[in-house]
Amino acid sequence: MGITGISCLKFFISRKIYPKIMDFNYKPQCIAHVLKFKDIIYHVGSINYQWIQESNLIITSPGIPLFHPALIYAREKGIKIIGDIEIFVKETNIPIIAITGSNGKSTVTIMVKNILKSAGIKVYIGGNIGIPALKILNYPAEIYILELSSFQLETTYSLKAKVAIILNISPDHMNRYPIGMMEYVKTKCKIYQHAKKYIINVEDEFLKNNNIDKKNCITLGIEKGEYHLTKILNDFWLCYKSKKLLNTKELLISGKHNYMNALSAFSIVHSLNVNIEIILKSLKKFCGLPHRLQLIYEKNNVKWINDSKSTNIGSTKSAIENFLPNIEGKIRLILGGDGKSANFSPLIPYLKNEKIKIYCYGKSEQELAKLCPKKSICLKTLKNVIISIKKIVKSGDVVLLSPSCSSLDQFSSFEERGNMFTKFVKELYK
Ligand code: ADP
Repeated sequence: MGITGISCLKFFISRKIYPKIMDFNYKPQCIAHVLKFKDIIYHVGSINYQWIQESNLIITSPGIPLFHPALIYAREKGIKIIGDIEIFVKETNIPIIAITGSNGKSTVTIMVKNILKSAGIKVYIGGNIGIPALKILNYPAEIYILELSSFQLETTYSLKAKVAIILNISPDHMNRYPIGMMEYVKTKCKIYQHAKKYIINVEDEFLKNNNIDKKNCITLGIEKGEYHLTKILNDFWLCYKSKKLLNTKELLISGKHNYMNALSAFSIVHSLNVNIEIILKSLKKFCGLPHRLQLIYEKNNVKWINDSKSTNIGSTKSAIENFLPNIEGKIRLILGGDGKSANFSPLIPYLKNEKIKIYCYGKSEQELAKLCPKKSICLKTLKNVIISIKKIVKSGDVVLLSPSCSSLDQFSSFEERGNMFTKFVKELYK
């Protein structure tokens, strides 16, 4: 009974099908919406196995792992299990751009949306970006963009994307993939099945040796690939084959990871024959999304950066790489939250840099502090961390909340975590 569940419920009711709906929370997020439908029977606080046994079809929320006992039980009974994206793709004939990756999905989704809009194409976005796909099903779209998480791909079988892309892969959600990285990578690769055109990051450590047909694909990478970056003097250029497209100096966003996002967005719309001038004009206007390396406060030459959407080691690495080359003082890096059983050790070489100080809080604070114990402090809450940093920051420092963890141990979402960070910082300086 979260937003995805409610979108499914509304979809079925519009077809005069009245599903039973259940949630193992006692007070599910969207119970009020369920109560609005008088004919709907619902169950909260546990799993109703009787209902599972009696069902013909189960629509599961992306938050529930397929190894949940209720779903194992259903599979044993031969009951079909799908997710909302499967319903969506079966219901529409409108072309779909499908975007996944460990990091950059929302950024690229919005970039592509902006470009298509400026090309005069009617486009709607949905999926993991916070707008359930079924909500946009009847919108007058000429093309849809679906941002897809690995969780959504687990229960999607019939997607036939016009263009599909995996932006990058870095370890994430290991509590959901007990077999390990290959299980996660395999799930992500489902996006390419039946895709008309597909774009591959040929340098990605986890994708390059994967069993994907690389002959018919469009290739992308920092150095290799049809779409790539070229460094000329001190500037990176977005390039297509031997053609220089854009000096990244002209972008409003910074960092190599963001140049790759721009390149990915370029490759998607270019494969749809959108005019190059329109693409470049739109990319030059894009100023980034909130909670992603967002400067929220600057005083006394100290920058406070909200990168609350950083929930895995890949995004924390790119945040460090973004600031380290030009830092005058120290990076005061805030790590913390729920680590989702991640192996954080690949962060160690980055954290060892003498310009980095580490502040940890939340459920995984001890585990995070063990990465570089001598220069880490554990302070339990984000507020304590901010108070403590405020006392010692010096001109030239960057205070970087790029926590590498999910927010759900102490906040309701990454947005709430980022908003609280901003509020605490601004209050302290009042
Ligand atoms: P997603 O939707 O995949 O979570 P976002 O665009 O919301 O991606 O960004 C999430 C986090 O990842 C932010 O911390 C952002 O700075 C970082 N990030 C964005 N793009 C990339 C990329 N291509 N590689 C690594 N990190 C990235």
